[in-house]
Parts: sequence; C-alpha cells; structure tokens
Amino acid sequence: MVYHGIIHRYKGLLDIPQNIKAISLAEGNTPLIPAPAVAKALGASFDLFIKFEGLNPTGSFKDRGMTTAVSEAAHSGAKAVICASTGNTAASAAAYAARADMRAVVIIPAGKVAAGKLAGAIAYGADVIQIDGSFDDALTLVIKLSEKHPIALVNSLNPFRLQGQKTAAFEICDALGEAPDWLALPVGNAGNITSYWMGFTQYNTLKNTRLPQVLGVQAAGAAPLVLGYPIEKPETVATAIRIGKPARGEEALSAAQVSNGMIVSATDEEILAAQDLLAASGIWVEPASAAGIAGLKNKINDGTIDLEGKQVVAVCTGHGLKDPDIIAAKFKQPKILPPDLMTLEKEILHG
Ligand SMILES: *Cc1c(COP(=O)(O)O)cnc(C)c1O
Repeated sequence: MVYHGIIHRYKGLLDIPQNIKAISLAEGNTPLIPAPAVAKALGASFDLFIKFEGLNPTGSFKDRGMTTAVSEAAHSGAKAVICASTGNTAASAAAYAARADMRAVVIIPAGKVAAGKLAGAIAYGADVIQIDGSFDDALTLVIKLSEKHPIALVNSLNPFRLQGQKTAAFEICDALGEAPDWLALPVGNAGNITSYWMGFTQYNTLKNTRLPQVLGVQAAGAAPLVLGYPIEKPETVATAIRIGKPARGEEALSAAQVSNGMIVSATDEEILAAQDLLAASGIWVEPASAAGIAGLKNKINDGTIDLEGKQVVAVCTGHGLKDPDIIAAKFKQPKILPPDLMTLEKEILHG
C-alpha cells in the first residue's frame, strides 16, 4: 500500500480543517530502530529504540509540522510563508511551499546554519535572508512581518505545526502497542516536546496508552529552561537547539513536570560523544539530535533516573548529512597514498 503521509494517516485525530487538501511529501512513518549497543554503552540494561526522524523527506522532524502548517496556509488562501530558522525549519518550509506553489521566505542567523540545511532551503527555492543577529532576533522579526503582511508564519508558534508533530507520538504508540516508559529528546524552541506531550496525552485519553516520563535535553550553552532565565548569546555546536528564549518554554516545563520527567542539559562534548555512539550503531544524526542520548547518559550516571528493565525511546530529530562540517572538522589532512597494492596492504593491515 502506498503511504500518503501523516495527514492522510491521522487526519481524524488532528485539529485541522477536515476538508483540507494535504500538501504532503509522504512525511512521517519513520522507523523505531532498536539500539541495544547504545543502551549498553550508557551502562544500564534497558530497551532502547531510536525514533529516527532524520529519515523524513527533508531530513528532520520539521516535515511533520510543515505538512499541516503549509496545508492550512494554502487552505486559508496564503500565497507565501515565512519563518525564522536555525536551518531545518527553513529547508522544510521551502520544500512544502514549493509543493504548494507558494513563496517561502526564511530568515536565518548569518553564519550559524549548517551547510546541509542552507543548501536544502536554496535547492527548494526559498528566498533566504541572513541577518546579523540570533535565531531569537529572527523569530521576533518574522512574527512582526507576519502580523503586518499577508504571509503565513510557519514557526512552531503556529498551532498547526504542533498538530502535525504530535503524530510522532501516535506512531510510537502504534508501533510499540503502548507508550514507552521514557521519551528522551532535544529541546530548542520547545515546539517538539510540546507536540509529543500533546500526542501522548491524546492517545492516553483515546486509547488508554500510558503517559511516558519526558526527558528534555538542552545544550549547556543554550539551556534557558534548565537555568530558569533567557540566554542572550546561546552557544553550542548543536545549532538546531541554539536558542536562548524558547517560544514554547512554558509548555515544555509543564510537560516535564506533569510527566514526572525533567529538562536537563548536556555539554557540547557530551553531545558529540553521543553522536559518535549512535554512529557506531549505524545511526548518523546531526549534533542536536544526539542530545537526548547525551542527557540520558548524564542522568543514568548521576543516578537520577533508573532505567533498569524500562523501555525508552530517544528521538533523533535530524540526519547527520545536515551538518557535514562537524565531522569533516574531525579529520586532519587525509593521507594520500600511491595507487599501489603493496602500499595499501601495508596501510590497511598495519595502520
Ligand atoms: C528544530 C530542531 C530541534 C529542536 O526542536 P524544537 O521544537 O525547537 O524544540 C532539535 N533537533 C533538530 C534536528 C531540529 O531541527
């Protein structure tokens, strides 16, 4: 059977106009990949699954929210969409706008967007504008622009984004037959954690699945929800969560509290180590996407959470291909050898 995307699969559960025409790229339906070696490396014996959202059409979970936001914008007669972005929202908005024959305007912080994301936004034909400012500055500006002009805002302040993104929680419950004990995921602008919580809560009401404990993970240099105040100049290699003033911060804190979970931070070093750990299991994710695993490791190590015998889903939000420079930076000058059998044998067998 041909799969037609999340609106087609879950429309009755989404708070969107039910006569909407879906602008879709068959997003969603991403795999839950068992990751026993990663669990073992974290030092506890539990069932770990990776919800690999990097396998969405533009390489991140943003596509789930963009199919609903852009479909609704088109339904309402909008001819253009606008967003602020650390990169993935831009690429996704650009793709779905192209699909809907609409213009996409994306505002990004200059020099702070990973190569694979910027390339995507350009390839899909968006008008990309860099500003000499932060993501938070960009978000403030696009909100004002969308209020003044007939151009639809597709950041996660747009409620239709959350409607699409909550389908990942449905998929997890549908695949496992239950919600997991814990859900771990990175937190930037906090739309995704809010969406997952909405999804799990809705399934709990409708299908009596349990509610997972939620572990939201911020980068230590961009951890306003952990510290309790906005960060003026957030800094982290995990550019997708380099956000100092999360638009959905209140909802994120509430999801963590009500679920008996928590919002914690992980350093860049810990995030990159988690990225390596996932890659060693064949799952290459961009740095931000590894934050959930890094946070889990910290909390297992300091004894705050006991996962013994539990089922855990870690959401890996974006693909490693999005941020090739992080990996390229690890290599010094690659060796160049003569095209000679004996030289190669010597190199391969003896290093
Ligand atoms: C957008 C994004 C995040 C953060 O999601 P929020 O909804 O802003 O909290 C994390 N990882 C990746 C790869 C992203 O693109």
